[in-house]
Amino acid sequence: MDAFKRNLEKLAELAIRVGLNLEKGQEVIATAPVEAVDFVRLLAEKAYREGASLFTVIYGDQELARKRLALAPEEGLDKAPAWLYEGMAKAFREGAARLAVSGSDPKALEGLPPERVGRAQKANARAYKPALEAITEFVSNWTIVPFAHPGWARAVFPDLPEEEAVRRLWEAIFQATRADQEDPIAAWEAHDRALHEKVAYLNARRFHALHFRGPGTDLVVGLAEGHLWQGGATPTKGGRLCNPNLPTEEVFTAPHRERVEGVVRASRPLALGGTLVEGIFARFERGFAVEVRAEKGEEVLKRLLDTDEGARRLGEVALVPADNPIAKTGLVFFDTLFDENAASHIAFGQAYAENLEGRPSGEEFRRRGGNESLIHVDWMVGSEEMDVDGLYEDGTRTPLMRRGRWVV
Ligand code: ZN
Ligand code: ZN
Repeated sequence: MDAFKRNLEKLAELAIRVGLNLEKGQEVIATAPVEAVDFVRLLAEKAYREGASLFTVIYGDQELARKRLALAPEEGLDKAPAWLYEGMAKAFREGAARLAVSGSDPKALEGLPPERVGRAQKANARAYKPALEAITEFVSNWTIVPFAHPGWARAVFPDLPEEEAVRRLWEAIFQATRADQEDPIAAWEAHDRALHEKVAYLNARRFHALHFRGPGTDLVVGLAEGHLWQGGATPTKGGRLCNPNLPTEEVFTAPHRERVEGVVRASRPLALGGTLVEGIFARFERGFAVEVRAEKGEEVLKRLLDTDEGARRLGEVALVPADNPIAKTGLVFFDTLFDENAASHIAFGQAYAENLEGRPSGEEFRRRGGNESLIHVDWMVGSEEMDVDGLYEDGTRTPLMRRGRWVV
């Protein structure tokens, strides 16, 4: 077997054994781009070898989406397959694992009218809510595994022929996910231990807020009451550990929805439903982004932020050292899973219940500062020029990162 095939096998095995930590007899619901059919078959094979009872895949097709956005009647864009998402939510709540194969053409929707794209995205986000809730509540184990989609490869390596670009992207994926290491499963265990040590340190400090300083950024992010830092393997409600993201380099927690102040500038571009948003700038007052601009893709971003009131508030703050395997590839991936894990980031929209002690919901979730929204959009603010301090309630501070690296 050649090196490429071996690494692909190792990645598929990582997804099933470390990402999902699949239980014998468990059902798997996969979502994937149509282009990933061979990789999905490999994943299914690994899943059945680990004892999966039923592997169901739902394929997405960006070209189909493009046709709809161009041709469907205006009111038709308010439709979304609620029946499908409700069925997925039901299956997750009944114990099915969720395997999301990521990888898409970030330019797939370029040139389409932003108001039509925004309208369809809003309807879809609303319909997807039951599934998103089940996922963020960790009612069952889930993971996201990357696939080197040709459109994605073209965006990352615009100067290479497609075949070469796809090969290079797979190599970067293997490096970032540690699938290219001799024993990736052992490598993940060690990585996971390191992340959990950071989580334990941060949880013991009970910081009141974080202070980010860098070029164009001076931002204080208040943390939710009884916030919990998370990172690496995460337990489901039933106590089964899974690794939601392959790769993952972040430790993250819930900001307080009303205690974010200052200005912040994105350090990397953001791929948003097929549109590239570059040069984001935001100014926060009492947790609300009163001003948001972008050098490119501003329309699409703003429409998304019009989804609901919580869309302009923060639902996540994450720390990622600037010297990690993803950042070390030196690539901009135009994909949130990779780019968010290459740098410290914040997210507009829904907060994770797992980031609050006792995983509260409803009124209690809001009272503690948890943010609610139909969206969750991570955008990258960290870089080798970013300093981060932890602030205590009495105003004293502890340096956490200097020039993008941990100092604790
Ligand atoms: Zn994150
Ligand atoms: Zn996030």
